Amino acid sequence: MEKYLSQLNEAQLEPTLQIEGPMIVIAGAGSGKTRVLTYRIAYMMSKGIDPFNILSLTFTNKAAREMKERIATIVGASEAKNLWMGTFHSVFARILRSEADKLGYPSNFTIYDTQDSDRLIASIIKEMNLDKDIYKYKQVRSRISSYKNSLITVRAYFQNPELIEADTMARRPRMGDIYKEYVERCFKAGAMDFDDLLLKTNELLTRFPEVLAKYQNRFKYILVDEYQDTNHSQYLIVRALSDKFQNICVVGDDAQSIYAFRGANINNILNFQKDYDDVKVFRLEQNYRSTKNIVNAANSIIDKNQTKLDKIVWTANDEGEKIKVNRSLTDGDEGRYVASTIFETKMQNQLMHSDFAVLYRTNAQSRAIEDALRKRDIPYRIYGGLSFYQRKEIKDVLSYLRLIINPADEEALKRIINFPPRGIGQTTVDKLIVSANGYNKTIFEVMKNIEKTDVKVNRGTQTKLQDFVTLIESYQVLNQTADVFELAEHVTRTSGLIKEFNKDGTPEGVTRMENIEELLNGMKDFVEGQKEIADTTGSLAEFLEDVALATDLDADKGDSNHVALMTIHLAKGLEFPYVYIVGLEEDLFPSAMSMNTRSELEEERRLFYVALTRAEKQAYLTYALSRYRWGKLIDSEPSRFIEEIDEQYLDIVTPTEERRFNPMLSADIFGDVEPNKIRYKPAKQPTLKKGATKKEPTKFQATTPKNLKPVAKTNGNTNLFDSKLVVGNVVKHIRFGTGEVLKIEGKGADIKAEIDFQHGGVKKLLLRFAKLEVV
Ligand code: ATP
Ligand code: MG
Repeated sequence: MEKYLSQLNEAQLEPTLQIEGPMIVIAGAGSGKTRVLTYRIAYMMSKGIDPFNILSLTFTNKAAREMKERIATIVGASEAKNLWMGTFHSVFARILRSEADKLGYPSNFTIYDTQDSDRLIASIIKEMNLDKDIYKYKQVRSRISSYKNSLITVRAYFQNPELIEADTMARRPRMGDIYKEYVERCFKAGAMDFDDLLLKTNELLTRFPEVLAKYQNRFKYILVDEYQDTNHSQYLIVRALSDKFQNICVVGDDAQSIYAFRGANINNILNFQKDYDDVKVFRLEQNYRSTKNIVNAANSIIDKNQTKLDKIVWTANDEGEKIKVNRSLTDGDEGRYVASTIFETKMQNQLMHSDFAVLYRTNAQSRAIEDALRKRDIPYRIYGGLSFYQRKEIKDVLSYLRLIINPADEEALKRIINFPPRGIGQTTVDKLIVSANGYNKTIFEVMKNIEKTDVKVNRGTQTKLQDFVTLIESYQVLNQTADVFELAEHVTRTSGLIKEFNKDGTPEGVTRMENIEELLNGMKDFVEGQKEIADTTGSLAEFLEDVALATDLDADKGDSNHVALMTIHLAKGLEFPYVYIVGLEEDLFPSAMSMNTRSELEEERRLFYVALTRAEKQAYLTYALSRYRWGKLIDSEPSRFIEEIDEQYLDIVTPTEERRFNPMLSADIFGDVEPNKIRYKPAKQPTLKKGATKKEPTKFQATTPKNLKPVAKTNGNTNLFDSKLVVGNVVKHIRFGTGEVLKIEGKGADIKAEIDFQHGGVKKLLLRFAKLEVV
């Protein structure tokens, strides 16, 4: 048997070796589903299956890249290169490009990101003179998105009285008209939005049987990770493509289905066995990721859900620490608790910042955490906020580039037609839009032929419009020979963008310039990388394709050492040694908007299950008694999810306010007493029962809470800290062995020693944390 297969247990081996026929692996978190997919692909290739015939769909491009890299180490990079692997969106965008003409699209169609869609919808609402408080563009967008993901085209919409009625009831009777206009405008702009990438793929596969046959024959083997979160549109694509050979392998965990709000359909996984004949079902039960405490706690919580497939998850890993539950007074305190315990834990265990993740329910919660991390100089990175490519200055540059490739791209054009300012006002732009709609031409075409149109502008403006057209056309010429880096460098310089950003000299201006520089560097890397991994030239078109579907998770090169901050939704499939789940309060998590029905609440609970099962070694659950929300300080109660965890897996840590006002710890945990040497355990656990906290004091109590008793005192290091260590001392460290002190620096609590260890070389350690003994 191939050597790499020995890295799988028996239960994992079975689905790995099963190549033919429909199959599903249903298994809990951390049981190796993704690993099975990875090794299975390697195994298929080792059996002679052509990588061109394998299609593997993942939830993020990052996951696809990691899989590919892993496979490359087994079967060789040149073979792995040819695998079709990526998210639904990226794989089918690629296919749509080569088949675009069939749908009446240019092959260089633009991919509108959410921001572009929002702007277009807002502009349509305005053009139609609708009330923007009733027709909120974000709501309209998500409505359109849900039609598309359910394959409800404009035509289907107008044929469906129920939909029309639903929108009318929601005081939006013009929804259908907006939808229609939006679709037409996208089409005219040669643009597809994210949902179109799936919708149009479905259209392609249903309308053109020969195209379907072509891709069925190409993708003889299909694999899907995170199958529980596929939506209807994705489901139909997979179903159609796998229909001929039925070599379809999906893996997933119904307990981790968390995207229903975006149209994911948990029934896809529950019904898989009905969709194909002779489905082989595999289960994995051993979790390799987490400690016993975490696995058991997660089991105890998911048990509360009624809708679920029965599953067993166990682990042979260590028992581990109990899950720490911490109560804070405010969200600010919560942030400080997170920051200070990250600091301590990292120091004590010689960890990396990247060993920690802070997960929250909503993006807004990151601010308090960020503030606290910054105060402690702990590097962090927020994922899932505005991605790099959506920042203003970057989008400005990209809009020029998009327009070069596709002059019909309306959103790109509107963005830069007067940026940097070149004297083309909004009134002129509005006239252009009206005229373009009237002639059914693109704005660029109208500008190009301005003299022949009905657009009334003065001579000066006319010249300005023509100059702009000439500028873009000159870039188009350059694009025929230059790679994306050369082109972008030229564009930023000659369009006046650099000058514009350079001019204001404010810190923001400087940051913008740095970002542009970063973009150019990224392009350089892209050009180099593209030649290496994909045998292509690194053209503008390729770059834009990459960027359009990039999330900032993808931008992570994996080499950076920072604490990761992200929403739980984004954390799916990932793992971290230390995980904080913050804001565990009723109405926040579970979210107030998701408590109306049992199924909504069950989805929140699954979300909590996903969060908890990201942790390998230690999980922290935190909540605050009051928190700023919508600009107001709001009292909150601990989340029912804390209560639902079997108590035996929890360690209720001393609430921070009590700790801070404990005279024995008066200098706070960063004073001269090392926190972990004195640990307090409440004699009685602070009550977590719902409603009870309302009675709890929300003000500081300047007395020592009576229910606190010291449980442990020192671990014998205090002496060393007091007894001035000197250069030349030989010391012993539990992990690095013996070493010689080379240098001492800092004062008081910050004294550090540079020590040359037998194992591990020279290290700088903070004495108050380093477990050292003089020998
Ligand atoms: P999730 O449901 O969160 O997506 P998963 O089922 O996909 O989890 P993996 O991510 O594949 O699980 O595996 C979890 C962790 O366990 C990974 O770090 C993986 O490398 C490790 N692992 C899986 N199987 C084994 C094994 N047989 N031996 C050692 N480590 C394993
Ligand atoms: Mg996985």
